[in-house]
Amino acid sequence: MDQPDKPRPTPTPTSQPFWAALREHRLEIQRCAACGAWVHYPRHRCPRCLSADLGWHVVDGAARITSFTVTRVPTAPTFADEVPQLLGVVELDQGPRLTTTFVDVAPEDLRVGLRVRPVFDDGASGTTLLRFRPVRDDPQEEGAG
Ligand SMILES: [Zn+2]
Repeated sequence: MDQPDKPRPTPTPTSQPFWAALREHRLEIQRCAACGAWVHYPRHRCPRCLSADLGWHVVDGAARITSFTVTRVPTAPTFADEVPQLLGVVELDQGPRLTTTFVDVAPEDLRVGLRVRPVFDDGASGTTLLRFRPVRDDPQEEGAG
């Protein structure tokens, strides 16, 4: 699925724990020990109370779609093999929002409010991307409801 010439995220010292957790198929988000706020994207200080006491916590990634778009023209030439691209924003149950892409769903089935769960996409470049797919009504689907 991955091509080496596609642009990939570059972890920074601040975001490195986020990317390292994804590589192990865990979603970890920062939480402020001073005020309890969940924080994403990764930062040095809490955007609510400015405390530097941020810790990493595993979350299950249960979320809902808050925005999406279907691109039928590649956003860059190297993404021509992924058209249509299903781009969007999801809101984790803890509150933070993440920009992502959707998989295992037809473009016409995307909806604001749709419940989604994480998909850990291991690319050839060594970076694991966080994508999301809908929670199905399958009773074996964890996190349904
Ligand atoms: Zn805080």
